[in-house]
Amino acid sequence: MRALYVLTIVLLTVFVFAPAHGEQWFKGGLHLHSLWSDGDAAPEVVTAWYKERGWHFICYTDHNILLEGDTYKPIMDDADLTPARVEAIREQFGDDWVQEEEHLGRQRMRLKTYEELKAHFEEPGRFLVMHGEEITTLSGNPHVNAINVLERTGGLPKDGMTERIELYMKAVTAQAEKHQRLMFSMLNHPNFANGVTIEEALPVKALRFFEVFNGHPSVNNWGHEEKGYPSTDRFWDVLLTLRLQEEPSYMLYGLATDDAHNYFNMGKGANPGRGWVMVLAGQLAPEALLTSIMKGDFYASTGVLLDNIRRDESGMSFTIMAEPGVTYTTQFFGTRRGFDTTSTAVLDADGNPKERASRIYSDEIGALLSETTGHEPSYTFEGDELYVRAKITSDKPHPNPFKKGDVEMAWVQPATAP
Ligand SMILES: [Zn+2]
Ligand SMILES: [Zn+2]
Repeated sequence: MRALYVLTIVLLTVFVFAPAHGEQWFKGGLHLHSLWSDGDAAPEVVTAWYKERGWHFICYTDHNILLEGDTYKPIMDDADLTPARVEAIREQFGDDWVQEEEHLGRQRMRLKTYEELKAHFEEPGRFLVMHGEEITTLSGNPHVNAINVLERTGGLPKDGMTERIELYMKAVTAQAEKHQRLMFSMLNHPNFANGVTIEEALPVKALRFFEVFNGHPSVNNWGHEEKGYPSTDRFWDVLLTLRLQEEPSYMLYGLATDDAHNYFNMGKGANPGRGWVMVLAGQLAPEALLTSIMKGDFYASTGVLLDNIRRDESGMSFTIMAEPGVTYTTQFFGTRRGFDTTSTAVLDADGNPKERASRIYSDEIGALLSETTGHEPSYTFEGDELYVRAKITSDKPHPNPFKKGDVEMAWVQPATAP
């Protein structure tokens, strides 16, 4: 009897309390700004925002700068760092934390560095901070996020979109090799400003990640009809199809991010909390997280949560962590071999090709293969698909949408057919 009791306890411990395969989901923000560039909050305020709301990790990605060295911000009534905000930091972190001084007749505050933030906020298994940079072209796109880096790259003036993306991404690859450390780069908000066209992104061999969702209000995630920008979902399908046709291992993963700049007035500007990644990893550490991300063992979310994701050569399946009263529509997109490869230019009113528009491709690319409202969606390859990926759209309004009318969604990374 006692043996049975012990066995029961052991089995319960193994099957109930141990996470499957020793892995768990970690929630992360991979695109956010602070006073180190054009964000409106001090980096400790930014970090506390995410940590207090349950994020497991963040990566600082200020424009063309790493959070290192002595940098000061003036304290002024009409600037982002007002006396009241400094006072709030003092209240939250203590008198000793704030390094305020007078300089040339004005008060200023020293910004906390990555190392200082790491020492203050990190907790093993609970919260991690990574160092990154948004490599930023000085006038519009491209912007490339560099994650878990050690060296600053810095952007250059706009000239040659393909060349710039390639240059920025190669700089990240080069430092990863030099330091023997996992790092990755991603193409941010392809529909921001002057846009990045499908044809410009296509030749960039180092491109493996892009933002299918960015929480900044001016990034046109769902396309820009007048300018001829496709939705980021369409951008993904066309780019992925053309790449896979060239090379079967030429994967492209989609991320959701905040691109947070504005931390004080929710509902105004680029707020935190709109989009994130959920990474399945055995450990909350940069190596483990990046290893999973590079394999596509993560999904992008703006509110819909998933579990039990299986992506393999037979197809994919997953569980939607459904909330009561919410309807979820899962769409499986993919392209079948032998698809129509022709494309046409987007024309302006005079019949001339629009300068910054992506070309229009056949509906056979990124076709809707299947659709369901069930909570255990699955797709089995029929044999002629190049890939399948899933997008889950709920009917629950996003609590703080980047654009009016947006709902909570999630994206599962593509699985390729054998
Ligand atoms: Zn940007
Ligand atoms: Zn940004």
